[in-house]
Amino acid sequence: MMTIKKNDCFIVEIEDMSEDGSGIGKQEGYAWFIKDTVIGDVVEAKAMKTKKSYGFARLMKVIRPSEKRIEPTCPVSRQCGGCQLQAMSYEEQLKFKERKVCQNLLRIGGFDEKELEFEPIIGMENPWRYRNKAQFPFGLDKEGGIVTGFYAGRTHTIIPQEDCLLGVEENQKILRIIKSYMREFRIQPYDEESHRGLVRHVLIRKGFRTGELMVCLVINGKDLPGVKSLTETLCSVEGMTSISFSINREKSNVIMGKEIVNLYGPGYITDYIGEIQYHISPLSFFQVNPVQTEKLYQIVSEYAGLAGKETVWDLYCGIGTISLFLAQKAKAVYGVEIVPEAIRDARENARLNGFYNVEFFVGKAEEVLPEQYEARKYFADVIVVDPPRKGCDQMCLDTIVKMGPKKVVYVSCDSATLARDLRYLCDRGFKLEKVRCCDMFAWSGHIESVTLLISDLK
Ligand code: SAH
Repeated sequence: MMTIKKNDCFIVEIEDMSEDGSGIGKQEGYAWFIKDTVIGDVVEAKAMKTKKSYGFARLMKVIRPSEKRIEPTCPVSRQCGGCQLQAMSYEEQLKFKERKVCQNLLRIGGFDEKELEFEPIIGMENPWRYRNKAQFPFGLDKEGGIVTGFYAGRTHTIIPQEDCLLGVEENQKILRIIKSYMREFRIQPYDEESHRGLVRHVLIRKGFRTGELMVCLVINGKDLPGVKSLTETLCSVEGMTSISFSINREKSNVIMGKEIVNLYGPGYITDYIGEIQYHISPLSFFQVNPVQTEKLYQIVSEYAGLAGKETVWDLYCGIGTISLFLAQKAKAVYGVEIVPEAIRDARENARLNGFYNVEFFVGKAEEVLPEQYEARKYFADVIVVDPPRKGCDQMCLDTIVKMGPKKVVYVSCDSATLARDLRYLCDRGFKLEKVRCCDMFAWSGHIESVTLLISDLK
């Protein structure tokens, strides 16, 4: 029987960490999830919420700090919902993340330690200011002043913070320009409760290679008063390339509206991953950490081991970034993606870069792949998959097995579903060759991995 009740304080040692970066401490066989703690800490915590076999507690005091603990660099790291691992040194984060992937392959995938070859995790050279995209909400503080920053974890309370250390330095300058423009023209920020006010969010993006900047204001209305003055001032920021606003009059948590009104520039910024050029408009998807994305794609390319004659399928291809990366070295690449707008971008990007050996299909991987395989007897030397967290549909895996490629390269953002899918494939003619993790999101619990499977048919 667990004797700790809600609001009780207790002392516990942190022994493990959850997928989302909360520390886990055990008390009388009961697991407590405690945010902002690190493995090895002894802490005083306050019980906030209790379930049958686990509960959530709030860190009150670190009684004996873990050797892995560091002082968080960001002053609002605890309130803000953005980072989870700011109290853990970057080196320890990498170890923790790699261990997580390894443990899931052993536990869920049932692989043997001897079968697993882990190549060293690829960390960031600089774990700060790596995001090329930020979306800041606007609101009012108690005194009625305009504030912007980040939502607190799980709520929509705005934590005022204009210089997130994961974002680019220009964010702060741009936010100040927008705030002073709003004050000058007496423009109210949007209020979710009353559905009144005009400015909801601002989207800021930067092309890391090109230095180009994009600003897109999201508004609850059809136009912006004094927009000429705003555009002029924003243009004084070095690199400013695209200014627009997006109309979003819905009562919804979705940030961007569908309609974009262009104010300045071509409607997009340009950036690169490797040698491939991309036009990025306010609504297009683009990887937020382009430096690590390039490294991730290099692992994919190395694992695919293309010599120029291969036929490759890229399932869950998004805007076709992996497809184009591999098309440089393959005979033909076929991409499949469920979101039609992403496929439109993928085709546009193929044209922009002069690739004629790629073809894209809109639809579910588990439907398009079997259809194309049955109808046109498509074949594959290499199949790359990069599914969302829930992993691959069984129909998709069954078709991969039927097609019998020499190699499958599995890019994963969730090692639990990765382990499940790898087990399925390894029971049906594939062999696990090697795994490599690549960190795309320092200070968060997320980890990306690439696994190479080779055909094991005797
Ligand atoms: N490979 C891309 C994107 C991977 S994210 C990149 O590197 O940028 C996973 C993608 O899978 C998303 O674009 C999502 O829209 C898509 N997706 C989700 N379910 C799908 C399904 N059943 N079939 C095909 N694509 C799917």
